Amino acid sequence: MASSTIQGSEVILDVKDLAVWFPIRRGIIDIIRGSARRYVRAVDGISFTVHERETFCLVGESGCGKTTTGKALLRLVPVMRGTAKFKPSKLVAEKLSEMGVALSDGYVDLFALTERQFRPLRRDIQMIYQDPYGSLDPRFRVKDILEEVLLVHKIGESHSERLELISKALEMVKLTPVSEFMYRYPHQLSGGQRQRVAIARAIISNPRLVIADEPVSMLDVSIRAEILELLNDLKERMGVAYIFITHDLAVARYVCDRIAVMYLGKIVEVGPSDDVIHDPLHPYTEALVSAIPEPDPSNRLKYRDVRIKGEVPTPVNIPQGCRFHPRCVVYEEALRLHKESAGKADEYAWAELCPSKEPGLVEVKPGRYVSCFKYEAVRY
Ligand code: SF4
Repeated sequence: MASSTIQGSEVILDVKDLAVWFPIRRGIIDIIRGSARRYVRAVDGISFTVHERETFCLVGESGCGKTTTGKALLRLVPVMRGTAKFKPSKLVAEKLSEMGVALSDGYVDLFALTERQFRPLRRDIQMIYQDPYGSLDPRFRVKDILEEVLLVHKIGESHSERLELISKALEMVKLTPVSEFMYRYPHQLSGGQRQRVAIARAIISNPRLVIADEPVSMLDVSIRAEILELLNDLKERMGVAYIFITHDLAVARYVCDRIAVMYLGKIVEVGPSDDVIHDPLHPYTEALVSAIPEPDPSNRLKYRDVRIKGEVPTPVNIPQGCRFHPRCVVYEEALRLHKESAGKADEYAWAELCPSKEPGLVEVKPGRYVSCFKYEAVRY
């Protein structure tokens, strides 16, 4: 289903070294002792790009920082450091120029703007939330929910023009007959229909980028595929790009062009989705891939059965060195083989680095990036 549309297409978002740290409140004893302030390092210095018409996936376990990344891009949480260069649509670029915001080569840094300057960009960057029950105001009819977006962004000159745009959006998300759904309240809709309204709300302003945060995880399995098909259909018809956030590699495999795997606030692997699924490089990705359920055993993907030890550490006390090393069986095995070689030069010497040095995200094959010492020596 996923289509590789990124070759040669324009980068619309370029994120560099994004970090979101939440300070932990210090108690009176910490203050008296003069203890250093501690932080929950939810996102800890990640970089990625999103291209026009691309579905870029952020995948990982709960607490890995993928949702916080989406919220940071929408300025819903404070950013510790980093830049996010975004290319706005022509209309929004004009609005920014009127406000005195200088664009560099057509790009604007989302984190360098004041809240007032950022407001027009909310038209270009929209979000679909995980919970179709909680994300719609129960007091509003579908028409009012969608019209609110148009009024906020001053889209549509008159009420009838706005009604026309609302009808078009509902048709695009296949909530027909439109005249019937327009006047329903959220409680009169099924979960799948509510998520369609949430998608209509996200696309009605004709955005360039939609951040979809686990958009199908709360839906019945029977309607997940329909919603994924719909998102893909909208991408083709509107030219919108997605940042698709999910914990489920099976969903990512179905819908994404490229996948970035996150672990404890860092991106550990990036690549085209087919390559990441069929040839995972990082031990964590290998473990995630080996956990994808496959109804037909003869179709099972060819991978090594790599397991993970223990639980995810807390983002308050991130392990030194490679943050995955306390759970990494590849490191354990490599260290054992290295020790067996009794200090002679051997191909597993890199294992000594794992507990002491943080690996960088390096390109090991064209378009494939991985953060693991095992691959640093074997770059193409
Ligand atoms: Fe495992 Fe070492 Fe690679 Fe980290 S750098 S994933 S510990 S092998």
